[in-house]
Amino acid sequence: MNCHNCGGQLEKVATDLPFKIKSDSIVIIKKLPVQQCQNCNEYLIEDSVMEKVDNILNKVDKTAELEILSYAV
Ligand SMILES: [Zn+2]
Repeated sequence: MNCHNCGGQLEKVATDLPFKIKSDSIVIIKKLPVQQCQNCNEYLIEDSVMEKVDNILNKVDKTAELEILSYAV
């Protein structure tokens, strides 16, 4: 799979990414597996990973301003 931005090589890495679930509420998911471009650092989240992210975000306490969760549970 190649980068949609520059055509570079994508590599599977684990990274920490913030997701905004409300205007004043952010969830950081740690160790999220993404495909990251070695050339321009653009990243791509696979559909199966995104589905699990959606599940995680649905279970989050939405009254918290900041929540830090691990993807690998
Ligand atoms: Zn790229």
